[in-house]
Amino acid sequence: MRIAELVWSKGESLFEVHLDETGDDLTQDGCLDHPPTDDEIAGLLPSWWVCLGCGTRIDDSQADMIVDHVRGCDLVDGAGQPVRPERHPAA
Ligand SMILES: [Zn+2]
Repeated sequence: MRIAELVWSKGESLFEVHLDETGDDLTQDGCLDHPPTDDEIAGLLPSWWVCLGCGTRIDDSQADMIVDHVRGCDLVDGAGQPVRPERHPAA
């Protein structure tokens, strides 16, 4: 998480919050006029769908990408449930 302070010529500061991993601007819809609190940052974070098999994270608004991932991922079945490793019978 990266907080960027933008200082305007009028002496006003605006704050943007960027994701480290992707550089996404979480404050695209409106910068903050004060340094964001932890709660505010938490509210800005997108929620993720996490693959139960391989741990891939996808923005959960991207339903198509999630469906594609589940289809292509060898570690989950068609319902997104983890595929259990084959059990070897106890000797
Ligand atoms: Zn996966």
